[in-house]
Amino acid sequence: MADCDRMGRSTHSMDKSITLPPDEIFRNLENAKRFAIDIGGSLTKLAYYSTVQHKVAKVRSFDHSVKETENDPLYEISVQEEIIARLHFIKFENAYIETCLDFIKDHLVNTETKVIKATGGGAHKFKDLIEKKLKLKVDKEDEMSCLIKGCNFVLRNIPHEAFVYVKHADSEFRFQNTHPDIFPYLLVNIGSGVSIVESEDKFERIGGSSIGGGTFWGLGALLTKTKRFDELLQLASRGQHTSVDMLVKDIYGGSYGSLGLTGDLIASSFGKSATADKEFSKEDMAKSLLHMISNDIGQLACLYAKLHNLSRVYFGGFFIRGHPVTMHTITYSINFFTKGEVQALFLRHEGYLGAIGAFLKGAEEDTEPHAAGAQRNETTKRPDV
Ligand code: ADP
Repeated sequence: MADCDRMGRSTHSMDKSITLPPDEIFRNLENAKRFAIDIGGSLTKLAYYSTVQHKVAKVRSFDHSVKETENDPLYEISVQEEIIARLHFIKFENAYIETCLDFIKDHLVNTETKVIKATGGGAHKFKDLIEKKLKLKVDKEDEMSCLIKGCNFVLRNIPHEAFVYVKHADSEFRFQNTHPDIFPYLLVNIGSGVSIVESEDKFERIGGSSIGGGTFWGLGALLTKTKRFDELLQLASRGQHTSVDMLVKDIYGGSYGSLGLTGDLIASSFGKSATADKEFSKEDMAKSLLHMISNDIGQLACLYAKLHNLSRVYFGGFFIRGHPVTMHTITYSINFFTKGEVQALFLRHEGYLGAIGAFLKGAEEDTEPHAAGAQRNETTKRPDV
């Protein structure tokens, strides 16, 4: 798990840029400095486009029925240049919003850039700052519609985007194939807070919770004096929650068999802290907190899934961070409460769905036949940005 650098930028092993499918939407974007920004309660996410030229070996085979001779090979290998469209990602803690804007100014804004596509609460809160610093007009997009647009796009187009997490299995990640038929699903986006969205042809925000990633970060900082999110996760990875949490066996002396509750089940998160006469380690408290929040969101997700008769729940948002403890706890919670009827799925681009959605909206507008500048596009083959 990578850390933030001094500028508040953070990288992640799964934040890898993605190859965009060849599509009408992207045809006119070569050399475009197209980008979009999603400013949430904790993090600012940036998605930007570039093309990469690379060499591919093409193998052409000839008649297999005849034996190869020196003058008559069975295969011909040629090397061809291909241009691939890629979407790149970067995120900054909101405290470093100015650094993020400097990055955009230095690397993404060109003389033709007039607007910046922005979503999330910060598109409103930081509008004046963005416009002043970048000398661009902020073009705001609705947060939920960007989230769902991004989610639909990655589910349909990006191979190995969604996966089931299975702890202790030979392969912990069971990747799902992309499929055009993705509806209906529930998206539980765990950012600073939690948004629960049901998506079919239309989507609806059906619930949410204020106990989310911001709560883990905030309470975790209060308990451990560690303000860095990744350090909190590292502490949690080394901790034992059983010294802080009250388990079923702490109350019953064993399991509560008639209700099917095993002795190791958490009966009360942090339940031992008030009465035990000892200091608790940062590691143990961080672990207990991570369990508490992940279990709570898992249960909430499962109730909404059952209420709306949905069997697939995707989890997005940067709280998850591809972290094994978080993914296992959520998966366990969903399995426990639904007896395996509902499936918990995670996403490789978990926290970038909103930024991807905003990017796509901008890209579509650029390629709409009636968009301003479309005629110029045709003649000059330059994107209208
Ligand atoms: P938002 O749009 O509300 O900012 P995100 O999906 O970006 O939501 O997730 C923000 C949450 O992700 C934080 O509250 C925290 O729990 C977690 N997080 C993951 N990585 C970091 C980080 N490097 N710094 C701060 N919080 C992080």
